[in-house]
Amino acid sequence: MTLKNRLNPFKNIQEQIDKAANFLSLTPGVREFLKMPMRELSVSIPVKMDDGKIKIFKGFRVQYNDARGPCKGGVRFHPAEDINTIRALASWMTWKCALVDIPFGGAKGGIICNPKELSRNELEKLSRGYIDRIYDLIGPEKDIPAPDVYTNSQVMAWMMDEYSKLRGYNCPGVITGKPLSLGGSQGRHDATARGGVFAVREAAKHLNIDLSSATVAIQGYGNAGSWMAILMRDLFGSKIIAISDSKGGIYCEKGLDPREVLKYKNQTGSVRGFPLAESVSNEELWELKVDIICPAALENCITKENVHKINARVIAELANGPTAPEADEILFNKNIFVIPDFLCNAGGVIVSYFEWVQNLYGYPWGEETVYKRLDKKISWTFQEVLALSIKNKVDMRIAAYMIALTRVVEAMKLRGWIN
Ligand code: NAD
Repeated sequence: MTLKNRLNPFKNIQEQIDKAANFLSLTPGVREFLKMPMRELSVSIPVKMDDGKIKIFKGFRVQYNDARGPCKGGVRFHPAEDINTIRALASWMTWKCALVDIPFGGAKGGIICNPKELSRNELEKLSRGYIDRIYDLIGPEKDIPAPDVYTNSQVMAWMMDEYSKLRGYNCPGVITGKPLSLGGSQGRHDATARGGVFAVREAAKHLNIDLSSATVAIQGYGNAGSWMAILMRDLFGSKIIAISDSKGGIYCEKGLDPREVLKYKNQTGSVRGFPLAESVSNEELWELKVDIICPAALENCITKENVHKINARVIAELANGPTAPEADEILFNKNIFVIPDFLCNAGGVIVSYFEWVQNLYGYPWGEETVYKRLDKKISWTFQEVLALSIKNKVDMRIAAYMIALTRVVEAMKLRGWIN
């Protein structure tokens, strides 16, 4: 059983919404509205495989709530994908966009597939086939997909091209996370991690942690996790002592060179076996005594079963939904500071928003502008959440939900959807 299958992340998020709603005077009807997606589409995508046989792939697009603007959210390719995970991810996108105050609602999509088993040709056909199926639902003013687990800028390029062909003209603003030469934004490649690094810097200031001597462990070494490791070392000089991926992990007390580990993973398919490092399992990684631990893989990896073993001072949630609700309370009581996912990983959607704005204007920004504006958004939001959490004596997650729910409810009221 994979980590993500152990619990239903959509149930988790409904529980999180309820917890925060207890601090707001929301009627039962409004609460129910906030806990359900607005629209869901389930699709079947036929792909002619390289051996000539037809294979049918199942996919989804969930539009959770668009009260604050067009829907926004990534597309995930994963063999264990399911509708409840996509619902949960679409819900998190809604709260994330509201929390960092960008004019988007939330959505998410996914295809049940194992991209590691597909040829480039099959992957392209699947990406285009998905867009053919969800074409009516998406558009620069309707719903804007982006990359997520096991999708990348090449997949986004195919998807944007397919949509543009169907429209009959170029529509760069329909997809974000595109390659630079097709209207992508400077700084999008590392935006999720960079936003996480800015959030960690703010947490370190609050907790008096010196990041230049801090130790860091990273679970998941894809786009988010690898850039997190690289930037923590490059910007602050922090020591990355452990890294894992789906096949297992590595540990080195003296510190790992994250760029060398990435090179090794790209060559061999895993971080495991990296020269001069000891092996650790994904479970052992949680037990390491570190200043900062960063889940950057899938949902539900910190549960009531392993939360007692966590020895970190800060959990920087780059992954969506890594902590189950019952573990949250235990972490709060243990005084472990959690930077909640929809704040910690918001850098990705913030720069996606910048990309969309640049596409609509047809005027690209420089890297410095992107980084400066990203830093401002994350730092400002972090301080707002921190102040509310201190005021109400609640954890950062509940405080973040209180802000996000209030903004979405206000938009729904102004539109006349609710009283
Ligand atoms: P990715 O596909 O680039 O990398 C995922 C990594 O997780 C891989 O290294 C994989 O080996 C590892 N992994 C998978 N299962 C694992 C397991 N059971 N234990 C340990 N490692 C495991 O994906 P990504 O884009 O880096 O996304 C990672 C997380 O960050 C996801 O939760 C995603 O929703 C979230 N996120 C990503 C972005 C983004 O812009 N990429 C934005 C916001 C949130």
